[in-house]
Amino acid sequence: MCKCSNFYRDDKLHHECGVLGISGVPDAANLAYYGLHALQHRGQQGCGIVTVDDDGVFHRVKGDGLVTEVFNEQKMTKLQGHIAIGHVRYSNAGCKGTENIQPFLFHHNSGDFAMANNGQIVNYRQLRNELEDKGSLFQSSSDAEVLAHLIKKQGIDKEMPRIIAIKEALNAIVGAFAFVIMTKNRIYACRDKYGFHPLAIGRLGDGYVVASETCAFDVLGAEYIRDVEPGEIVTLDHHGIRSQFYAEPERHAMCAMEYVYFARPDSDIEGCNVHNYRKESGKILFHEAPCDADIVIGVPDSSLSAAQGYAEASGMPYEMGLIKNKYIGRTFILPTQAMREKGVKMKLSPVKSIVKGKRVVLVDDSIVRGTTSLKIVKMLREAGAAEVHVRIASAPLKYTCYYGVDVHTPAELISNSNDVDAVCKLIEADSLAFLSHEGMLKAGRRSDLCLACFNRKYPTEIYEG
Ligand code: SF4
Repeated sequence: MCKCSNFYRDDKLHHECGVLGISGVPDAANLAYYGLHALQHRGQQGCGIVTVDDDGVFHRVKGDGLVTEVFNEQKMTKLQGHIAIGHVRYSNAGCKGTENIQPFLFHHNSGDFAMANNGQIVNYRQLRNELEDKGSLFQSSSDAEVLAHLIKKQGIDKEMPRIIAIKEALNAIVGAFAFVIMTKNRIYACRDKYGFHPLAIGRLGDGYVVASETCAFDVLGAEYIRDVEPGEIVTLDHHGIRSQFYAEPERHAMCAMEYVYFARPDSDIEGCNVHNYRKESGKILFHEAPCDADIVIGVPDSSLSAAQGYAEASGMPYEMGLIKNKYIGRTFILPTQAMREKGVKMKLSPVKSIVKGKRVVLVDDSIVRGTTSLKIVKMLREAGAAEVHVRIASAPLKYTCYYGVDVHTPAELISNSNDVDAVCKLIEADSLAFLSHEGMLKAGRRSDLCLACFNRKYPTEIYEG
């Protein structure tokens, strides 16, 4: 994640990245293109692909924008080789330089390599200062670059196998990461010892694919093999798959928001389908916070599964009460408050004939600042809804995230300084309830998740400043 700040934030959380690696498959870049396209929801501000050709020469194309905007036929012909890594990123306005777009590519007399990451290194600032004091020159403001310098520092002894240098470098960093590191012969897929963000491996013909989400496998025709485990380094090359652990797994603290909001519903994360998780969370939400109403509607798209679950558990009909204009996107880039106000209305429309005169249960995945919830409640009332009862399929968001998710500062989070009754008044709902922390675990049949932005229990040490 880029470390700059100060840009307009919309009323949703933003993920930082998606990563992908393809090994041992002809025209790896073409497959990487389709795979990145499937991961586009994880970041829309920039993307890139690096390949290695049969002569060991690295090729890179990257740029600002969507996958379909950055790559064209001419650029794709440049990306020769059987091995590729790719990246999609979300960035804030202060960090928009192409130097921050991944994959990063490093040239070194011990061998070139490229890397891309999803996550955030929390001791990045301390490590970067130490490295700069010793003469390192950074090419970006991304925290991910620090790993490359650490690998090279560890590997100063050219006899040291690269995997040992990677292991030692990974042990120096603290935080959330899912790295793909590509040398001229292989890809190393590395996941932090807490398992914050997903990383899965699939079989693709005679080769392999590794991706942030399994939805990329479906589009490539790859077969899911397994997830990279917390603390594991998986090596993918012509020998097949090899596994090593750089550290003992600490916890299994998958980011709860991956299930709640970020991941695509057709992805499976650690054995749990995302749509099923959301549907189950809606059912549990009904049992925790029932409501006497006429219809259940969801906020498209990420809340529709939870709304279906709530409706199914309650016996109330599930209706399409809000329609999303699919051609309006990325409202957060609208430059003025007035334009952003309109942005929500342009994005969502109530279906008057469905909500008019009805007591409506409105299911949403989360409340960030509350401004969107207020607008939707007002919109439904203007469309004739008799009552609007809001049910949120996650707990109140109160604290910031240090692990690669652009959660707003605590002061911006409506639930940080307001209890549930106060939030209910602020969004002008007839009633409001959130899913419990226990309900969030139960929906995925999990004993552990990272819930730090809900309960302030950060799985790692936090390094401020
Ligand atoms: S703090 Fe919240 S957003 Fe960040 S990793 Fe944990 S659950 Fe996910």
